Amino acid sequence: MRVLKFGGSSLANAKRFLDVAKIITNKAQQDDIAVVVSAPQGITNHLVYLADNIGSREAIDDGLTKFQQASNTIVEALSLSVDGFVGSKVSEYVTDLVNQLDRYLEGAHLLAYCPDHINARIISLGERVSVSILEELLSAQKRAVEVIEPAQFLYTNNTSLNAIADLAKSKAEYASKYSKLSGIGLMPGFIGTNIDGQLTTLGRNGSDYSAAVLAVCAQAEVCEIWTDVSGVYNADPRAIPSATVLDYLSYQEAMELSYFGAKVLHPKTIGPLAQHHIKCYIKNTSCPEDKGTLIGNEKSEGKSVKAISNLDDLTMINVSGPGMKGMVGMASRVFEAMSHANISTVMISQSSSEYCISFCVHTADAKRAKKSLHQAFELELFNGLLEPIKLQNKLSIISLIGDGMQQQQGVAAKLFSSLAQARVNVIAIAQDSSERSISVVVEERKATDAIKVCHQNFFSHHQSIDVFLVGCGVVGSELIEQVARQQKALAAQNIDLAVYGIANSKGMSVQSGGIDLSNWQDFLNQSESRIALQVDEVKDFVRKNHLINPVLVDCTSNEDLAMSYVEYLEQGFHVVTPNKKANTDSWEYYQALRNAAQQTKRRFLYETTVGAGLPVIDTLQNLFRAGDELHQFQGILSGSLSYIFGKLDEGMSISQATAIAKENGFTEPDPRDDLSGMDVARKLLILAREAGMELELSDIDIEPVLPEHFDDQGSISEFMTNLESIDEYYANKVSEAKAQGKVLRYIGNIVDGQCKVTIEAVDGAHPLNAIKDGENALAIHSRYYQPIPFVLRGYGAGAAVTAAGVFGDLLRTLAWEQVN
Ligand code: ADP
Ligand code: ASP
Ligand code: MG
Repeated sequence: MRVLKFGGSSLANAKRFLDVAKIITNKAQQDDIAVVVSAPQGITNHLVYLADNIGSREAIDDGLTKFQQASNTIVEALSLSVDGFVGSKVSEYVTDLVNQLDRYLEGAHLLAYCPDHINARIISLGERVSVSILEELLSAQKRAVEVIEPAQFLYTNNTSLNAIADLAKSKAEYASKYSKLSGIGLMPGFIGTNIDGQLTTLGRNGSDYSAAVLAVCAQAEVCEIWTDVSGVYNADPRAIPSATVLDYLSYQEAMELSYFGAKVLHPKTIGPLAQHHIKCYIKNTSCPEDKGTLIGNEKSEGKSVKAISNLDDLTMINVSGPGMKGMVGMASRVFEAMSHANISTVMISQSSSEYCISFCVHTADAKRAKKSLHQAFELELFNGLLEPIKLQNKLSIISLIGDGMQQQQGVAAKLFSSLAQARVNVIAIAQDSSERSISVVVEERKATDAIKVCHQNFFSHHQSIDVFLVGCGVVGSELIEQVARQQKALAAQNIDLAVYGIANSKGMSVQSGGIDLSNWQDFLNQSESRIALQVDEVKDFVRKNHLINPVLVDCTSNEDLAMSYVEYLEQGFHVVTPNKKANTDSWEYYQALRNAAQQTKRRFLYETTVGAGLPVIDTLQNLFRAGDELHQFQGILSGSLSYIFGKLDEGMSISQATAIAKENGFTEPDPRDDLSGMDVARKLLILAREAGMELELSDIDIEPVLPEHFDDQGSISEFMTNLESIDEYYANKVSEAKAQGKVLRYIGNIVDGQCKVTIEAVDGAHPLNAIKDGENALAIHSRYYQPIPFVLRGYGAGAAVTAAGVFGDLLRTLAWEQVN
């Protein structure tokens, strides 16, 4: 004998009913079968809503119509497509159900109260609809069907809405009433009866449990749960799209998993099956050929975590106070109070000081739990032996589950470091001595982040980088192109790099699931999903989309944005930027940035602020960490000025050289930013501060490229025209130098704790003589590098190298780097 259970998702519409009928007829050819059905998808929710909203007669009428319509939509579609399907028969039955429903609701409406046993009757009606449709459908296909009535045999305790089956009695009654089925057995799930003949329900999602009880009663060898997924996944596939199906689970693993929230199985299902060694399969109605998951008696092989689950909607109750300490029987009184109120506790943790017992209950039970505790501990509370009972709601439990976790070291450590990585605070912890599960209580709003990171670290080994790019000028757009080109190759290395937001002057255009970078410009122009470039708004998006490694990439030279980095770091973003403004603001802000990054365990990365793509900052930081000290520095730090001064050697005028540099995108949009010397001064200050020098921008001695007498006011184009007025001045300077066998170079120096930016004439023997055409060179004289300096040299300008440097910083935000 084989029991097949079809859930509401498998009975959502006419097409699904046909799929179900096909599976049933196939199976019936191989074996004796009995089928358990849920209500068509959505119907029980609707009935629950009606039972909870009995206040208005109008709403009731509206609800009745919807119930009837939902059922008849399926019936009508089947009447049209299946020969011999007598829709009117089913519709008449549905009308009977509607009348029953009307009576229950009207009664409750008049009473202004819906007692639990009436509530149970109301919410159980959806299963009847499914049985009626399927019975007619199978009959139309000439299959003999016998309806099994749970009220006849499935005995439960007295709880109307979350009843527990009495297996022994049910088995005996079943044997006496259904010893031999005349055809395919067909039973509504979710329903039971108490000893007084009063209808009970088995709790939401309880048809799985009905199937398990029927399997026991009918002495089935197999119980198949048919649903809308291809088995049990190693995490909820709705929350974790990369979750994978498990081939096998032991009964114990399945029990833990369902108990801790995996909705695919009702928590009480596995108990009866395990007790009677009945194999259980989880199968997909839409893909019956998929293998599914087998749940059986053997312990799982392998030494690892099998799955992660989360159980939401919990409240934690804390009972604490001096009266708890060492007092024998306190815990038993607490849980007696719970059992008295018929409340199940989901997880318990107690401190070894015995000062406090914390436990979780479903939020729906929290108020009653508190009341029951107040009654049980009235005296202790009155005398101050107990502190007021504290409730914390909106909590979830995240559990790691697997037989293989036993005796394994490091699982808990990995769990906690994953939670830290997701910036999730752990409120309570529990692991029982079977070591088959470890559970932590976290805030519900953080639960998806938590399972996402745990899944990455335990299973998929994928790491994500979630980019929010501000500025899509030369460097920003080149970065996007580079990311677009590399996304696939990185994914093959388990790195999911996605851009979620791109900001321009209009605000930040965002896209859940990541922007398709192949046409990002169109996206930017047409985007309707735009948020303000404000920390709160971006953070809100990150939270809603459960992004766990958000990075703000600032490719602007904007000062205001630079001054908000601390806030971004504090809100859990890494900050990556070629923008020099933040690092050259006050020493105080410089320190604040570093403190924020350290405290939030996020990274502030700015490799490209000096020497564009050349590995300057990271190299220096490593040297200084290793005890090196800067003695002296000399270098050409500006790609644009390297280009312009190089062109002067070749006899080009300064105005012409600047114009070409500007045209080629070597200069800042306003070339005055380069020619003022400020850009080089900022780079020098960044280097000096890296070396530990506590300097301000105003401490840097700058000799601007533009002579003092030059009027640099006006628009960019006016300035470019005016520039011709100093052509002669520079031509003279260049020929003076040439006469001495020298060339002019724009050089940054750090000597004796002083930073200087100067125009120098250098001869052929000078190492910076050959540095031109946009090249940068940095000569670092240090404690370790002497007398020969450490020299870095290479192209120091241009979008490609700068963007590649930013890209490198992005990759440094990956989790394995953060841990170090
Ligand atoms: P049915 O209507 O068939 O009873 P349910 O909606 O009750 O189906 O259960 C199936 C759903 O359980 C899946 O669609 C899936 O979203 C959810 N689910 C949660 N956790 C898991 C898991 N670990 N494996 C598979 N499905 C899961
Ligand atoms: N129809 C019931 C519910 O939605 C039982 C079930 O689907 O298992 O809770
Ligand atoms: Mg279900």
